[in-house]
Amino acid sequence: MSRFADVAQAPPDPILGVSEAFRASTSPSKLNLGVGAYRDEDLKPVVLSVVKKAEAKIFSRNENKEYLSIEGFEPFRKATLDLLLGAGHPAIKEGRAAVIQSLSGTGSLRVGAAFIARFLKGSTVYISNPTWGNHRNIFGDEGVKWEYYRYFDPETVGLDFKGLMEDLKAAPQGSVVVLHGCAHNPTGVDPTPEQWAAIADLCQERNLLPFFDVAYQGFATGDLDKDAFAPRLFVDRGLEIMVSQSYSKNLGLYGERVGALVMVLKDKETATRCLSQLKRLARALYSNPPTHGARIAAEVVNDSELFEEWKGEMRGMAGRIERVRGELQRALEAKCPDKDWSFITKQIGMFSFTGLTPSQVDNMTNKHQVYMTRDGRISLAGLNSAKVEYLANAIVDSVR
Ligand code: PLP
Repeated sequence: MSRFADVAQAPPDPILGVSEAFRASTSPSKLNLGVGAYRDEDLKPVVLSVVKKAEAKIFSRNENKEYLSIEGFEPFRKATLDLLLGAGHPAIKEGRAAVIQSLSGTGSLRVGAAFIARFLKGSTVYISNPTWGNHRNIFGDEGVKWEYYRYFDPETVGLDFKGLMEDLKAAPQGSVVVLHGCAHNPTGVDPTPEQWAAIADLCQERNLLPFFDVAYQGFATGDLDKDAFAPRLFVDRGLEIMVSQSYSKNLGLYGERVGALVMVLKDKETATRCLSQLKRLARALYSNPPTHGARIAAEVVNDSELFEEWKGEMRGMAGRIERVRGELQRALEAKCPDKDWSFITKQIGMFSFTGLTPSQVDNMTNKHQVYMTRDGRISLAGLNSAKVEYLANAIVDSVR
């Protein structure tokens, strides 16, 4: 008998498990709206043209495969700060932003969680209800206590701003608040600029530490600067923030694991000390980050021609998603006019939070082979015009 006989079977991941089930299905009409990865109009994965060009340049240099330093590839670290704060931002010039390249958004959040566990002992991390499912694992596995704050109002299919403010007001001083930088996952509902300002004021009053999860910069509106509005606002108001950044979606570098953890701090001396501790944590977690994806991201962001081309490609991806949103809404309005479907085009980013219940989702999957998470979220990146009718019929059948 194995010494591991008592190890229980872990449940499949609620998001990645959907893709596994999709792959196992033999139905010709199956549709995968589970995972948040961009697909083209033929529902095929996309490698951006700027990524191919950047790779050609990188390969032509015949570079070696030496280890990177623990904090990562220097040109990538610069690029990442420029993208987040805007090139030439005072916090960059003053050297008070600590940045460590890490394993995409997830790994960066995890290093942040480890930092919180070690240096903000006893603090509670507040995450939105609902949120991306992995937030709970990331903080929970680090032994960090987490609580929900209210976020989504099913009545208005919008932000529960009153509930959010009440819950954050009631949070103990010094707590950490995880905020989605833009294109909130799974709801697609973001605060307005005025609401962001009120949240920043509250963080200041209550001494809360904002921890931005920036996984969709450029994907929400197709504009990198607009999508960085919230973290920039907080920094410009003098708040210290933590940020995890991911290049999975905006550069389509999913499997390359490219991202960073940034801490924007009061002064350079604090940034130096914090970076030294981030390096200490990363050393024990994975030693140093991967090279290839960081070279690609740096090549694209630091080269003005590629950078402009990237912006165009990003607008193309965001535009295709916006278009299928409109098509889906119109198809549902035609088939089921007594229900308000306007939330579909009000929500932004990759997802639509449909309000389908778990049993309705089961109907979507079991009867119609539409694979999606049980919280009712669909990834519009996995939809094309040809499948809009099919999806609308499945939704109408499931809500009736
Ligand atoms: N944060 C949010 C809100 C996400 O939706 C995702 C990916 O779906 C991530 C972080 C992390 O993704 P990755 O680790 O691929 O960068």
